[in-house]
Amino acid sequence: MALMNAIQYEESLRKLNLNVYMFGKKVENVVDDPIIRPSMNAVAATYEFAHRPEYEDLMVAKSHISGEPVNRFTHIHQNINDLVKKSKMGRMLGGKLGCCFQRCVGMDALNALSIVTYDIDAKYGTEYNTRFLEFLKFVQKNDLTCDGAMTDTKGDRSLPPHKQPDPDAFLHVVEEKSDGIVVCGAKAHQTGAVNSHQIIVMPTITMRQEDKDYALSFAIPSDSDGITYIMGRQSCDTRKLEGMTMDRGNMYYGGHEALVVFDHVFVPWERVFMYKEYDFSTALVENFASYHRQSYACKVGVGDIIIGAVQTVAEMNGADRASHVKDKIVEMIHLNETLYCGCIACASEGHREASGTYLVNVLLANVHKHNVTRFPYEIARLSQDIAGGLMVTLPSDADFRSPATGKWMEKYYKAKEGVSTEDRMRILRLIENLTLGTAAVGYLTESMHGAGSPQAQRIMISRLVNLKEKQRLAKELCGIEKGDHIS
Ligand code: SF4
Ligand code: FE
Repeated sequence: MALMNAIQYEESLRKLNLNVYMFGKKVENVVDDPIIRPSMNAVAATYEFAHRPEYEDLMVAKSHISGEPVNRFTHIHQNINDLVKKSKMGRMLGGKLGCCFQRCVGMDALNALSIVTYDIDAKYGTEYNTRFLEFLKFVQKNDLTCDGAMTDTKGDRSLPPHKQPDPDAFLHVVEEKSDGIVVCGAKAHQTGAVNSHQIIVMPTITMRQEDKDYALSFAIPSDSDGITYIMGRQSCDTRKLEGMTMDRGNMYYGGHEALVVFDHVFVPWERVFMYKEYDFSTALVENFASYHRQSYACKVGVGDIIIGAVQTVAEMNGADRASHVKDKIVEMIHLNETLYCGCIACASEGHREASGTYLVNVLLANVHKHNVTRFPYEIARLSQDIAGGLMVTLPSDADFRSPATGKWMEKYYKAKEGVSTEDRMRILRLIENLTLGTAAVGYLTESMHGAGSPQAQRIMISRLVNLKEKQRLAKELCGIEKGDHIS
């Protein structure tokens, strides 16, 4: 079963025994829960699209281990083309789903581990890469979704892991056994956690020798004993409890994040990929972050939807010919395509690592993600400018259906002749969803903080740029230094 379809994926989730809490209660049926279900639909689409001929080129790759077709979300990038297709896949899916489809974190964790386990083995003669490749075979064969779990809760930010008053502020080993290790801690903001079959844990920051108990990477089934999921809230989330009303904005899809608590969780040695090699924690963090910064190609796809929605509402309002409206839409397109340039560029400028895996250009991936911390906010601002205030003052779907009030809404929310009032309300609800509602988690705040907050990219940019070379270019031209110029 190398390529699951959406139904098989959903059935595979039903077999999991996850310990999930939301609104103070245990969720007994995770797959059918109306709040969680749209996020499951989004991941299911990553399975379904792999079976559609028109998306096969982006969604399906050839495994470098088995030679079999695998979903690209389980693939290890073998060349530049793989990296470019990954960026294109992200835009395509973001544009189809209008939300976070959650599966990139696992793909990025797999690729980062393929590099770092190889490099640790080369230095210490360990067997992490062999273990990792066995795990990868299992993931590819069963077409699994993996949660890439990096972000620790961090406690007092001024203290390193070993000095925290609560040692669980960073996930760490608490017991070493003959057959494995026992870990405690938590990972925050875990995208798609309860839609995942496996959790891949990685360290969240550079570790020093005193923090070696925290320099861990491993994979475990998502329903392992001792794991608890506490679902994050999203603004307007309970609208999903109102049935299929237009107030949802996006009728089908969504994302989710959860706090994942590890309370004395056992990990067998064969699934441990880093154990106290603190000197490789930076490499794992940076490789994962670079891949995930590239993954923010998804925001370009969501931007496509916002631009399409704004053009539609402008036409419905009879405002599409106004020069300032046209100009603002051009500005939105410019910002969105600039983002696309970044995720394509960092892929096109990728390179081969010693393990054989292709890694993106790290500087360009950081520049791309840094743009993502800004441009979606400006695109959202412009979309709200054009959409107008009705987006946030619109009464409910139920009022529109009510005989007492529906007629007044029909009369007073009518825009251009020939435009359905309901359609106008629907498109406004979609913009609301993307810029203020459940999907704004992914499009805005996650754009800011996901894959590292802006300052993390600025540090990387300042570290990676070759400023001396830029100075040399300047100095040569004005005659301070000698160059190879033709006189
Ligand atoms: Fe993938 Fe984007 Fe969601 Fe991150 S935010 S998991 S890159 S869809
Ligand atoms: Fe993310």
